[in-house]
Amino acid sequence: MDDFHVLIVGAGITGLLVAQALKKASEALEHPQANITYTIFEREDSAEAYRVRLWGLSIHWSSPLLKKILPEDLWSRIHEAQCDPHYKNPEVEHLNIYDGSTGDKLNDMPEPQHMRFNRSRMRAFCAQGIDVQYGKKVSSIVPSENGKTVTVSFADGSSVTGSLLVGADGTNSKVRHLLLGEEKAVAQTASTPDEPFVFTNHTVQYPKAEQALFLRQLHPTFYVGLHPDGAFFWLFSCWRGEAPANPRNALPELKAWTSKLVDPWKSAIEWLPDNEAVETQKIAYWDPVERDNWGGRVTLAGDAAHPMVPFRGQGLSHCIADVASLTAQLQAHLHESKPLADAINEYDAEVVARAGDEVKTSLQSMKFLMTWDLVEQSPSFTRSIDPNEAALKILGRS
Ligand SMILES: Cc1cc2nc3c(=O)[nH]c(=O)nc-3n(C[C@H](O)[C@H](O)[C@H](O)COP(=O)(O)OP(=O)(O)OC[C@H]3O[C@@H](n4cnc5c(N)ncnc54)[C@H](O)[C@@H]3O)c2cc1C
Repeated sequence: MDDFHVLIVGAGITGLLVAQALKKASEALEHPQANITYTIFEREDSAEAYRVRLWGLSIHWSSPLLKKILPEDLWSRIHEAQCDPHYKNPEVEHLNIYDGSTGDKLNDMPEPQHMRFNRSRMRAFCAQGIDVQYGKKVSSIVPSENGKTVTVSFADGSSVTGSLLVGADGTNSKVRHLLLGEEKAVAQTASTPDEPFVFTNHTVQYPKAEQALFLRQLHPTFYVGLHPDGAFFWLFSCWRGEAPANPRNALPELKAWTSKLVDPWKSAIEWLPDNEAVETQKIAYWDPVERDNWGGRVTLAGDAAHPMVPFRGQGLSHCIADVASLTAQLQAHLHESKPLADAINEYDAEVVARAGDEVKTSLQSMKFLMTWDLVEQSPSFTRSIDPNEAALKILGRS
């Protein structure tokens, strides 16, 4: 049997985890029937270029899967990628939602496995030992006539052929568009003319240590404040309303909220320096559908397969579950002679059922959390942030 070569498009956390999982799987084999090899391509010119978009990423149930994917050495140092690398996670973490206008606690979510990563640090962490080809922006994909390979072409005129293409190229995935066509692949924006929302995400370093300590009083890395007027303040903020006068800087509109908030949200916003621009962000989602995968030669993973609104903090856990699910199917293909088409069909169907459920739940959660009378009916209160039934299967806990 020839080597099985996987082409991974996108060196975000998902693409890098696919590379780590394949590397670990191939190193574990003593007498491989076929070597699994991979190449990973990233449109940005360097690792530094994509580190500007920062936010914190909580994982609520997927740490056993992350442990399975990562080499032992990396897993033993996983705390290095956390928002606060010195924070010792207690056995059971309590993640709380508050009324931001009074400070009253509305919901307490006990979580035994919570970790909170810094996005850019997690990317750099997952890139260790992985050779990324930068400056490679996908422009087209073509199956071979015999159906045994797929060729990917890049904007710089180069191309490469492999056994399987994994599109891990994020929310507006080019691979998804090439596979499904514009109409079926396009992501929907969460803010609509009928229901306008403003999203901002801003990273700030407060100048005084006392300010940081004050803001960490409820929890060092995680707490949410909701407001009866339809707003959500976390490390990112969202409120109902028309687009700010200057979409590149919503600081005046964000500061206007301070008169309605109690601490620590009030001070966190008041202390933002007046000369810093707070950019607005487009938040989009795509409800995944089953699709033709060219006989198992092209598939999607991570946000490319299921971009979702970040109101339940579930995106990364589903990225991690995708990688675990895909690796298991590829191992069945290579070592148990499962036909590739069956393996990828099963993977795709599993992702659509598991992550598709969460795309819808997160959207519903966003709308309910932003509507005061419905807050307590939001899935974040009724279902907490536990894995759904399909995720329990991947975790082996069903
Ligand atoms: C504000 C915010 C808060 C969030 N909080 C949480 C949370 O608490 N918990 C959680 O689980 N999730 C959270 N998420 C979701 C989480 O960030 C994503 O699910 C996750 O980062 C997706 O990683 P990815 O690698 O799939 O995609 P990306 O990080 O988007 O990576 C895709 C990569 O593909 C590259 N690429 C794109 N197009 C091409 C192309 N044509 N050719 C080559 N390369 C290309 C991009 O440059 C990029 O490097 C949050 C999201 C947001 C916006």
